[in-house]
Amino acid sequence: MSRVYLTGAGPGDIELLTLKALRVIKEADVIIYDRLANPDILKEAKDGCEFVYVGKEDGHHIMPQDDINETIYQNALKHKVVVRLKGGDPFVFGRGGEEAAYLQERGVLFDIIPGITSAISVPAYAGIPVTHRGVAVSFRVVTAHESPNKKESQIPWEHYKSDDTIVFLMGLHNLSKISKKLIEIGKPRDCPCAVISKGTTKDQQVVVGTLADIVQKAVDVPTPALIIVGEVVKLRQQLQWFEGNS
Ligand code: SAH
Repeated sequence: MSRVYLTGAGPGDIELLTLKALRVIKEADVIIYDRLANPDILKEAKDGCEFVYVGKEDGHHIMPQDDINETIYQNALKHKVVVRLKGGDPFVFGRGGEEAAYLQERGVLFDIIPGITSAISVPAYAGIPVTHRGVAVSFRVVTAHESPNKKESQIPWEHYKSDDTIVFLMGLHNLSKISKKLIEIGKPRDCPCAVISKGTTKDQQVVVGTLADIVQKAVDVPTPALIIVGEVVKLRQQLQWFEGNS
């Protein structure tokens, strides 16, 4: 009987892989992976392991999700140990739930192996805690990915009004809209925010600004990148530790 492991690869730093993920990667007959998963992880696979790239960058599928689901299923018919390796955590904007449902409907056994999500770990590597006593008691993780053709935004901006910390994934190309909308709903123009690119890797870049000037400061920042908004961003001044350390 084959088994599919829907596995989180963590945010980039290979040492942020869980022991469980590493074990199944070493046992895998086939690894089906995205671009966001650190390719060095594949070096841990056994000899003869097959690799299937289902390229996915920044939430944009190069292969449609239906085809990815079917690819996983077909591999489960052929192989005993199938690892579906996904950046960060498979259930945080990773469509892991859809893949699991597809397998469940076809009677394929699967395990979910959570991963360290970029939403928390990437700010941490920039010296920004998503919560902090006296500064932020909650954080929200949202996707700001919307088709540019959409006239009306589907994002419930008003809900974000009283949020302490907001982390936007897949939002870099929408940065000017995000900052504009947050100011519109009443966030102060000088509300601190940061764009963190290639977090937890040696190429990590952090740009700190305010809602008013972040767009101008963050031009040319490469993806993958996330945006973090809130007073916690100021803590970086004291807590920055990773850049220059890696
Ligand atoms: N399942 C993933 C998220 C997938 S959505 C997770 O739990 O991390 C993809 C988005 O995650 C990217 O557009 C970017 O906003 C963010 N992201 C992933 N890895 C990142 C990294 N190393 N640095 C900055 N942002 C990252």
